Amino acid sequence: MALKLYNTLTRSVQEFTPLDPAGKQVGMYCCGPTVYDFAHIGNWRTFVFADLVRRSLELFGYNVKHVMNITDVEDKIIKRVREQKTTLREFTGQFETAFLDDLKALGCREPHMKPRATEHIAEIIAIIEKLVARGVAYRAADGSVYFSIEKYRGCGCCYGQLLKLNLDEMRTGARVASDEYEKESVADFALWKARVSEDGDVFWPSPFGEGRPGWHIECSAMSIKALGETFDLHLGGEDLKFPHHEDEIAQSEGATGKPFVKYWLHGAHLLVEGKKMSKSLGNFFTLRDLVAKGHTGREVRYLLLTSHYRETFNFTLDGLAGAKSALGRIDECVGKLRELAGNLEVAPEAGFLDRFKLALADDLNISAAWAAVFEWVRDINKQLAEKSLTPAGAAAALAAWSQVDSVLGVGIQGGAEVPAEIVALANERTAAKAAKDFKRADAIRAELKAKGWVIEDTPKGPKLKPV
Ligand SMILES: [Zn+2]
Repeated sequence: MALKLYNTLTRSVQEFTPLDPAGKQVGMYCCGPTVYDFAHIGNWRTFVFADLVRRSLELFGYNVKHVMNITDVEDKIIKRVREQKTTLREFTGQFETAFLDDLKALGCREPHMKPRATEHIAEIIAIIEKLVARGVAYRAADGSVYFSIEKYRGCGCCYGQLLKLNLDEMRTGARVASDEYEKESVADFALWKARVSEDGDVFWPSPFGEGRPGWHIECSAMSIKALGETFDLHLGGEDLKFPHHEDEIAQSEGATGKPFVKYWLHGAHLLVEGKKMSKSLGNFFTLRDLVAKGHTGREVRYLLLTSHYRETFNFTLDGLAGAKSALGRIDECVGKLRELAGNLEVAPEAGFLDRFKLALADDLNISAAWAAVFEWVRDINKQLAEKSLTPAGAAAALAAWSQVDSVLGVGIQGGAEVPAEIVALANERTAAKAAKDFKRADAIRAELKAKGWVIEDTPKGPKLKPV
């Protein structure tokens, strides 16, 4: 079964074929957080989307190398470091840790590499030197180094690959120094920003003088270092198409002369309660805000995964309540299957898994994928009620669910995930009971409880559950 994805570069749904001649290895880069504050729910939509892409590729048999950078030097960061009179590392470190904690709470698999921009200054400088040597970058009177769109286009390269830009109205030599700018201001952008007094201690030496990198060049340097000059997949939110991703392409292709990325995938915006998120409207949420309201990372993940990645999604608190009940239905069904299946291990039931994969193969059609899941839940519940499901049938259903959940990542902690230390204690308790040492058995029960596990004696033997 071939996986098809919408490639922003070609504006079409294409069959995914990796660059690896063996068709196995996949390099995937997703622009990571700018660590100047806690990530909000709109940011999380992108990271959960990236996690879905990675897990889907893994289900389809690919060996994914997932890279997500940490932007730890950029205009907004420097402004806050100055305001809070702190150091760059101290300031960004706290938000980097919070980000990774939240990523885990949302059930996202950790990227294999998480390069930091400040640890790639040499690689950044090397790319800028190449661009200067090839004549597509120049040092301006303000001491900064800019990328020349005119010279780049003069080499036969295309600026405006991800979206149509009105380059005819561009004023030759117009420059923009800030990391973020509007589509209307297509202009030469900064690769290296000359040191100014507002930067404080945030600067590095370079052949172009003391200064710091622009935001866009950071991603070109880190992705090329981790994945090579040409790689398979680059992801991000659609707000990054311009200028960030367009500039990444220009810098990378300008320096290497090779195509930068084969497939560009962009996730759509998120609205909260029907409106653009803003602090003044009271609809601005970080994951921490939602947890404080009694929701869980798992519920937020579920809700973010209910809409197609290319559709604007309206995130609501009612939706989160719905997520809780939907997950409850899955948990109940899977719990009953576990009871019936016991320790039987059999091959997954193909029908459910195939329907789920077929939905994903169609540009990650998540609505159809969830429909397959809830149809399966209904069918299993019916068989359980009719007592027509055998333990082997239950085990096959569970094995299929386990593969489906390797993509969805919303499953509850099952027997298989009980830590070895806890299983050993439970076994010790069973032995103590068999030896009629009830004092020891009770002591172990208390110890398990202190470690967060309750033990229930069932006709099929003791069962462990998280407290
Ligand atoms: Zn980036």
